[in-house]
Amino acid sequence: MMKVAIALSEKNSLIEKTGGPFGTAIFEVDTETGKCKLFSIGINQVVPLGNSTLHGEMTAIQFGQKKLNSYTFGINKPSGKEYHLYTSCEPCCQCLGGTLWSGVTKLVCAARKEDAEMIGFKEGPVFKESYEALESAGVKVVRNILREEGARVLKQYGEIGVIY
Ligand SMILES: [Zn+2]
Repeated sequence: MMKVAIALSEKNSLIEKTGGPFGTAIFEVDTETGKCKLFSIGINQVVPLGNSTLHGEMTAIQFGQKKLNSYTFGINKPSGKEYHLYTSCEPCCQCLGGTLWSGVTKLVCAARKEDAEMIGFKEGPVFKESYEALESAGVKVVRNILREEGARVLKQYGEIGVIY
């Protein structure tokens, strides 16, 4: 599942060169059977669409909620469906907030904040408490899943791409 998010990041930034090195995949999980299916994807579109909010997490949340026709991924929880967000890099301050409001029940991250900051991206005010706030709101947080692969895309993009 994380490989999908990282592949989106790589395709967007290094192969198609259509945006920044960040990708997100949201999966629909049947909590009874444990089966997962890809539900929504997102890529960073800040530079091509001239919009500072269009990070991978945000575009995946926007597409997914449009598909659900709801402001929350929690809408299908009574019927045993949850939504898990996999992102190629730990979210910035905006996207941690967006994840908190979205209704997903799990956040899984590959590259670390430090990996993004190493090539010049800013993550904003993100603290240990930011993750604790998600956990206490019922969002399970898992970090360092395929960190090296996520960081590799960032590093390669850092040599060729626009940093903002
Ligand atoms: Zn963000």
